[in-house]
Amino acid sequence: MAYVSVNPNDGKTVKTFPELTDEQLDAKLATASKTYAVWKKTSYAARTAIMAKAGELMRAHVDKFAKHATIEMGKLINEARGEVKFSTDILSYYAKNGERFLEPQKLRPSFGEAHMESSPMGVIFCVEPWNFPYYQLARIAGLHLMAGNVVVVKHAGCVPQCAIEFEKLWIEAGAPEGLYTNLLISHVQSDKVIDDVRVAGVALTGSVAAGRSIASRAGQNLKQTSMELGGSDAFIVLEDADIEKTIPWAVWGRMYNAEQTCCASKRFIVVDSVADKFLAKFKTALEALTPGDPMDEKTTHGPLSTESALIDLLKQVDVAVKHGAKVLIGGKRIDRPGSFMQATILTDVAEDNPAFRDEFFGPVAMFFRVKDEDAAVALANDSDFGLGGSVFTGDVARGQRVASRVETGMMFINNIDWSDAELPFGGIKFSGYGRELGDMGIQAFVNKKLVRTHDMVAPLV
Ligand code: NAP
Repeated sequence: MAYVSVNPNDGKTVKTFPELTDEQLDAKLATASKTYAVWKKTSYAARTAIMAKAGELMRAHVDKFAKHATIEMGKLINEARGEVKFSTDILSYYAKNGERFLEPQKLRPSFGEAHMESSPMGVIFCVEPWNFPYYQLARIAGLHLMAGNVVVVKHAGCVPQCAIEFEKLWIEAGAPEGLYTNLLISHVQSDKVIDDVRVAGVALTGSVAAGRSIASRAGQNLKQTSMELGGSDAFIVLEDADIEKTIPWAVWGRMYNAEQTCCASKRFIVVDSVADKFLAKFKTALEALTPGDPMDEKTTHGPLSTESALIDLLKQVDVAVKHGAKVLIGGKRIDRPGSFMQATILTDVAEDNPAFRDEFFGPVAMFFRVKDEDAAVALANDSDFGLGGSVFTGDVARGQRVASRVETGMMFINNIDWSDAELPFGGIKFSGYGRELGDMGIQAFVNKKLVRTHDMVAPLV
């Protein structure tokens, strides 16, 4: 049974869901394909009406959606509410602005007239992770449906109720059957979907391992892909940073979203002259967090999404320690029911330690002390990942110069990596390729067709 809701606060199974049979999957793909034939010709006004309605319906039921997320993946209830509201913002934003992004674009050829037209590509298969169980869905549905595509979505095995609630939203908003389809399918069936001729493109948000598997399968089929994968973002603190203001960002950067965010701050790179002060205050702030039921609004430190996520993370810390890392605080399971891990700071992580190149998907911060700005940039760039990153400084212009030197998809000055409905999101290196959201996101699965008018006499051969 691959689709199971288990509450990570107490380890109890809430509900299980069977996978689709191959026949059911085939029928869903057939419906999606038929719906695409109609939807691609549907006006922007009609697409907008459904998108806006879906946003309104979600906004009217924030608590219902949020509770499913907290129960299935342990996100603090207020953060879950925030995610639901942000998801509605994305739907509303693309309802209002989708058409504008896709208007014909004039080119400037030396002769005649030319422009690029945007047209949809077809059924897009989206494979999504559990850590933002609605935002991830909104950021593919809001954009690709407005562009005239239809989507079939494989959500993660641990958040089936979130997946089903989000699918219902579209039916309630008046969408035709097959516009947004949730697929409870296995990895083997996922490969079949990628191979299926009715599917035109594949989008994944997930781990590097999933990226390798899904992108290579899509590559065999010469299908367009976008890959949003892991990260190990640098949080650079320069000597002129306001440490009092920086600490809350450091805690939030590492710990928000149940400590499991692709673009969380994972490597804290601090210039020597402020390193002791930063580390002492960071440690105190992490130790002040209160573990507890994520449904309780007073809790500030929830469980990890699943028991296996906790066990894997504890093993990663053990490996780091065996290779010379020191545990300044934490490193252990919290002695209570559920999959809770102590907030952890690792120091002395040398270049040959496997941890140096790993992504820690949980409450583990790696701390590095560096000589100066140049050393901070060099260390930030010495990573297999390149998703986001932050720099804290009293001089914004300096922060912008440092941001330009860091090899990554997104950089934030005196702030942490944060997604915005209208701005592109994505990375480079093992963090993937392509962008979701913004102009680049809505163009991800769009045929950009050149149309040229040049009235001239054909050359004689
Ligand atoms: P994961 O194992 O890759 O799972 C993500 C999704 O991919 C799930 O729906 C999973 O389904 C599916 N999946 C995995 N392997 C597959 C395969 N071979 N064939 C078909 N589907 C497959 O990721 P995770 O470890 O749970 O999630 C955390 C990772 O995602 C982290 O590395 C994180 O940084 C990354 N992430 C990236 C972003 C971004 O925007 N860049 C955002 C969020 C998370 P099952 O659950 O059924 O296995």
